[in-house]
Formats: sequence, C-alpha cells, structure tokens
Amino acid sequence: MTAHADLTRNQSLVLDRLEKAEAPLSAYAILDQLREEGLRAPLQVYRALDKLLDMGLAHRLESLNAFVACARPNCHASGLIAFAICEKCGQVAEFSDDIVHERLHDWAHREGFVVSRTTMEIRGSCRACAA
Ligand SMILES: [Zn+2]
Ligand SMILES: [Zn+2]
Repeated sequence: MTAHADLTRNQSLVLDRLEKAEAPLSAYAILDQLREEGLRAPLQVYRALDKLLDMGLAHRLESLNAFVACARPNCHASGLIAFAICEKCGQVAEFSDDIVHERLHDWAHREGFVVSRTTMEIRGSCRACAA
C-alpha cells in the first residue's frame, strides 16, 4: 500500500485500489472491492474520494463518473489535467500540455473568466486498440 502519512485508513484503502486498477473505477466498484476491508457505506467511499481529489492524489473523470489515481505527482501545478480515455479497453492516460494550457489561460484572461479547474477528456482508441 502506498504510504501517505496524512491519509486515514479509508483514504489509503481507496487510493490503493485506484492505483492498482487497470481502468477507472466507479465509487460503487471501489466499495465492492473494499467490503472485505470493512467498508459498508457508499458515504465512506465518497468521503475518502473527496479528500483524495482535494489533495490531488486522485481525479474524477466526469464523462465516466469514475475515478483514477493521479499518475503525475504535482500535476495540479501545471494547471491543466488532460485524460485520453480508450473506449475499447478502458485504459486512461493522464497528461498535460503547456501550449493547450497557455491558450486556455489566454482565453480566460481575455474574457475575464476566473478558472478554478481545467480538465480535458479525449475519448477514442489507444494505440494498441487502434492497431
Ligand atoms: Zn494528476
Ligand atoms: Zn485501448
């Protein structure tokens, strides 16, 4: 299990599942996997997920309503979080792009729009599935 000193037991359990998952997990899938660890209520999972999202250790994929562990420590510092989601195998690649981020930042600046969070989701086929 990943050692994060400031995580509660439930938070560590949830993060551990996300880190080991091959694909994004829904809150209910996480709960299913953690029943034997003593978690019973969806709220326990949601609370842990909220905290992990706050700390930038996990991300929510809006289009899938599912969660992934952050693949890039300090990705929040980059200001843009982008995901490529394979619709065939379910794999998710997290990346960032400075030029895209700059463009969006320029637009927001021009419009006077105050950005709190930018998440991009690209859906399609990964290299292996497209081949
Ligand atoms: Zn991240
Ligand atoms: Zn794929």
